[in-house]
Amino acid sequence: MAENYDVVVVGAGVVGCSVAYYLAKEGIKVGLLERESIGSGSSTHATGFISLLGTEFTPGPSFQFGLDSYREFPSLVQELESATGMDLLYQRRPSLRLALEQSEEDLIKELMTWQKEHVAMRWISADEVHEIEPRLTPSLIGAVYEDESAQLDSYRLNLSLATGAEKLGGETIFRKVTGLLSEGDRITGVRTESGDLSCGTVVIAAGLWSPPFQRDLGFPVPVGALKGERLLLKYDGDPLQVLISSPKRGHMISRLDGFLSVGSTGGRDYDNDQLYQGEDMDRVPTEMARVEIMQRAIDVFPDLENASLVEQLAGSRPLSPDRVPIIGPVPGKQGVVLATGHTTKGIHLGPITGKVVTEYIRGGCKTVPTAMEPFLPSRFAGLDQADFQTAGLDVDE
Ligand SMILES: Cc1cc2nc3c(=O)[nH]c(=O)nc-3n(C[C@H](O)[C@H](O)[C@H](O)COP(=O)(O)OP(=O)(O)OC[C@H]3O[C@@H](n4cnc5c(N)ncnc54)[C@H](O)[C@@H]3O)c2cc1C
Repeated sequence: MAENYDVVVVGAGVVGCSVAYYLAKEGIKVGLLERESIGSGSSTHATGFISLLGTEFTPGPSFQFGLDSYREFPSLVQELESATGMDLLYQRRPSLRLALEQSEEDLIKELMTWQKEHVAMRWISADEVHEIEPRLTPSLIGAVYEDESAQLDSYRLNLSLATGAEKLGGETIFRKVTGLLSEGDRITGVRTESGDLSCGTVVIAAGLWSPPFQRDLGFPVPVGALKGERLLLKYDGDPLQVLISSPKRGHMISRLDGFLSVGSTGGRDYDNDQLYQGEDMDRVPTEMARVEIMQRAIDVFPDLENASLVEQLAGSRPLSPDRVPIIGPVPGKQGVVLATGHTTKGIHLGPITGKVVTEYIRGGCKTVPTAMEPFLPSRFAGLDQADFQTAGLDVDE
């Protein structure tokens, strides 16, 4: 006989674990299925930068979703740390988004025209930047100074969400889901390599491995892969007191464990034919990325010439064709919810995704919450072939 759950979540990345955590908090019996290990997908590789600046969020509901998730973190981190005893290395600090070239200044200022209505920020000159951090390159033009943004260790977040869900009664089951069970138009459970599980609702949170489920759903689940690499450095100078990023050179963050994170590579770093190198390449660090990231970091912070490499991380982001997450019910099917395609923002948006999916399931999957509307899978109805090339090349992290 099949094991039975209220909800089965497929995939124990930050998104799936957030969904499981918020469901378990509501007393819903949840089974979290993972084919490898917790955080073995994209989530472990992420910088864990929780920032509202950049090009990922557009004005309106998308930005509001990011803002709501940002505001969820302080209490969530506190809850998870006290429930699990883990230190998530969560820091809230001012941030600088640097312009080293005219095109970067133009982009930053254009975004500021609407972002500054929601986030406390101001443009500051190169002199003011150097008062804050004198070690930054003399050749920068200026920066937007944001009063506060945040960063944490994404693997620890991932693990603490899974542990937090377990402590609230959720079960983590290490099995690969090979298909969906259905009766008519209703999904009734999942097939795994070692037995079936039945449930009221299946949540597919399998990141870039979500597309195989489109066969059983009879509906497109368009998620591609966008490779990203970053470096952890040992730098003996004082840690940076601000979180730094720039449109063309990525981030530079002194983590609370003492290491400096720099990177990441993204769409801008690939030629058309390099974007998709297959699953085997997803987690393989490349020398090209290491050299490129290091050079960019030194361009921004010349003293990093003296830093040494501790670790090179390589993973792939679950890329959606419009770079917007895919969250919500599947047209024509009952008993199934997608929570995937978070592209460059799955760590940032994990908690709010967990909350909104839980709200939908708690309401008997009858009413789509307003916050879910911009992300509904229905926008891909009839999609034949997704254009991941354009989507990937447009990513500017
Ligand atoms: C270099 C880099 C830097 C990044 N920086 C940031 C950042 O600073 N901020 C941010 O918000 N985001 C960042 N991201 C993006 C972020 O990592 C992703 O958006 C996020 O991790 C996606 O989470 P997920 O849970 O959807 O997917 P994943 O973490 O990939 O989890 C999916 C899980 O599903 C499992 N799975 C798949 N198929 C099955 C199956 N059939 N059965 C059972 N289990 C299955 C996988 O094994 C995996 O564990 C970065 C990504 C990279 C690569």
